[in-house]
Amino acid sequence: MGALFRRRLVVRHHRTAEELTAVARRVLREKFRAAGMGVTGVNVASAESGTLVVVENEGNGRMALTLPRIHVALMGIEKLVARDDELAPMLEILPRSATGQTLTSYVSLVSGPRRPGEADGPDEVHVVLLDNGRSRVLADPAIREALYCLRCGACLNACPVYRKVGGHAYGYPYSGPIGAVLAPGLLGIAQVPDLPFASTLCGACRDVCPVRIDIPRLLLTWRARATALGSASASERLLVRAWQRLASSAALYRLLAPVARVGAAALARVPALTRLAPPLAAWKRARRLPAPAPASFHERWRARQRSDGSHAA
Ligand code: SF4
Repeated sequence: MGALFRRRLVVRHHRTAEELTAVARRVLREKFRAAGMGVTGVNVASAESGTLVVVENEGNGRMALTLPRIHVALMGIEKLVARDDELAPMLEILPRSATGQTLTSYVSLVSGPRRPGEADGPDEVHVVLLDNGRSRVLADPAIREALYCLRCGACLNACPVYRKVGGHAYGYPYSGPIGAVLAPGLLGIAQVPDLPFASTLCGACRDVCPVRIDIPRLLLTWRARATALGSASASERLLVRAWQRLASSAALYRLLAPVARVGAAALARVPALTRLAPPLAAWKRARRLPAPAPASFHERWRARQRSDGSHAA
């Protein structure tokens, strides 16, 4: 980081976090001060008074909306609440679910350009309301609850898939569980048919969401729509049908489960075998296939019942 700062900002080499922070602060403040226009997002806004609320911990938002002569605020239409007294509950929920804070370090309420006699603020404030597919989501009763989202990020932190693959894997600015249900609504499911399948449906996202969006239900809705569009390949459909047949027959399941276990154990133990199985080969390039447990759940269950029975006798 010290080398990057020295190269890009033409400053002497600094090593400690404190020194680097001081440099960033000095250089960036000057940039904010010299900018003709500051652009920010909006966390929530009131239609009653036109007040825009921006919450953050870094202070860059406040500088962008106070130092330049023009402030442009970009907000999705779902960020609008009807009345001023609805802002306070939002401010209570958002920081707690986002960063675990009672309140963020900076909370800015903007209700227009600087007035005569005021020391800070821009001469002009422009608000850009973005639709970009949101009206379409609102018009769809099966998925409109996705628009309740405050972008707190709690569902991302709780999601075991997101925690493993990270945000870039979703290929869209809104990532994680809420991204997987919002992106199909904003872009159309035909554009992102795989996204709703990027989930284990464990329900951790729904449990942690402060506005109780039923994300697993929305994921299933999108999966059904993607499947109806024919997004699954022929081999995938064949596999699912085979699994359906197997899982709905106890006798068949009992017959084939030990065979599958031997096969999975061989794949786990002999890495060369995966080269013979093309879908597994790509998957296994960056992962280790776990070996199955030595005894299945059914076998352990039966053994336990036998031992409970012999103790009781
Ligand atoms: S869906 Fe819920 S938990 Fe996830 S970002 Fe939106 S408000 Fe937060």
